[in-house]
Amino acid sequence: MVGGVNDCVFCRIAAGQAPATKVYEDDTLCAFLDIRPIARGHTLVIPKRHASELADLDAEVGAHIFRAGHRLALAIRRSDLAADGAHLVLNDGTAAFQTVPHIHLHVIPRRHGDKLSMAAGLLLRRPRDPQTTAAAIRAGISALENEDETSAEKGSKG
Ligand code: AMP
Ligand code: ZN
Repeated sequence: MVGGVNDCVFCRIAAGQAPATKVYEDDTLCAFLDIRPIARGHTLVIPKRHASELADLDAEVGAHIFRAGHRLALAIRRSDLAADGAHLVLNDGTAAFQTVPHIHLHVIPRRHGDKLSMAAGLLLRRPRDPQTTAAAIRAGISALENEDETSAEKGSKG
């Protein structure tokens, strides 16, 4: 069961009952663009089953969420967003400034020399062309999958 669907905006997003620009999903989690991005491509990875904080989160699901965040950070490097790096951040609890009580991993792309645009992004938190941005991230995910297949084929040929 997906818990708290009616009360929790991220449960509603996971269930397809609230709008979001999704870039990836599987049975356990989904990833979508942050509505108030700090940088273009700022993405959130959430478990589909409600967990408010780390204390409520199944450790295997947590590992799966981190793996997805890791893949997204690599995919965004390969995408047209051409990131050079990323912040992977999880604010656990209100003491850590968690504002949405459904656990989420932030993936925030960084580029060399982006200090000023990051500072502006932190202040303005403006959406930036979400459809094009999501399409670029999905293309980056496909590029990563193609690389994985190519290296698996090479490996099997010895
Ligand atoms: P945190 O401070 O770690 O709890 O971050 C919550 C994040 O969720 C913020 O970056 C918000 O911009 C983002 N957010 C809140 N509501 C939505 C929504 N409906 N769709 C996408 N992102 C959201
Ligand atoms: Zn929830």
